[in-house]
Amino acid sequence: MKPILGFSKNALLRHSAERDAGALDRHAADPERLTIVFAGDNPVMRRGEPSTALLTPEEVSHLGRPEERVYLGSLDGRPVAAMLHPPGTAELYGNDPSFGIADLRSIAMRGYVAPEEQGLLAMAKSLLDWHRRHRFCAQCGAKTTSAQAGFRRDCAACGAQHFPRTDPVAIMLVTCGERCLLGRQPRFAPGMYSCLAGFIEPGETLEDAVRREVFEEAGIRVGAVAYAQSQPWPFPSSLMIGCIAEALTDEIVIDRDELEDARWFHRDEIRLMLEGRHPDNLLAANPIAIAHHLVRRWMESSAP
Ligand SMILES: [Zn+2]
Repeated sequence: MKPILGFSKNALLRHSAERDAGALDRHAADPERLTIVFAGDNPVMRRGEPSTALLTPEEVSHLGRPEERVYLGSLDGRPVAAMLHPPGTAELYGNDPSFGIADLRSIAMRGYVAPEEQGLLAMAKSLLDWHRRHRFCAQCGAKTTSAQAGFRRDCAACGAQHFPRTDPVAIMLVTCGERCLLGRQPRFAPGMYSCLAGFIEPGETLEDAVRREVFEEAGIRVGAVAYAQSQPWPFPSSLMIGCIAEALTDEIVIDRDELEDARWFHRDEIRLMLEGRHPDNLLAANPIAIAHHLVRRWMESSAP
């Protein structure tokens, strides 16, 4: 079975037109409401097969006032909001074995919640994290307050409006005929090789970001760049934009500040890595990551 790209499915109807000042009060008054509770960085889940972080009013009734609230939208007609509570909130569920807490990477890697809920949790985490880090105005330094049901922060002192950010990252599989270029950073799991990647800079096209990053990190010149697919990556708020790029040169010059190694892999070797049968125990990126899907997409495509 083809692995599921982490955080890429979201069954929520976003309803941007409903993000008015009363949206959170309407959520609070609806007996059908669902609430996602983050205890610091991690959501509280009701255990099950699968588990779920969408909690009923009874399941959140013992919690105090949240630090931040965001109205997210609706799920099968039921309003959904996310609440940020202090990390110690997990202890309020600690004695009840029907609840658990986990970080988002583990939730995606182990498939604790349904795939359609992973995107919802990524959305909630990125928004709540943004609130936590933007309590003061970047323009004048005064305190800001949440507006538009949590999709904006306003500064009363200077009138500035601040919107949640998404940081675009170019991630690319560079190909050269039957070979593709992968690299590894020292922090990677032993034997794992992945796609090169980097933040897109202001005033830069996606295509040029791909060409710049590949040249900086591996000394390879890239020609054609084609968009493949994207992935929300809520650590804290990246959007991974996956591309397939054609190499114009093949002599690798590694930037040792960025990479521990980079090399060309033949399609046959990639197949062994994806199947976990490589003779040197080399591995492709984890199946929740877009790098895995870019490599798989290229490997399964017909030979050029
Ligand atoms: Zn201000």
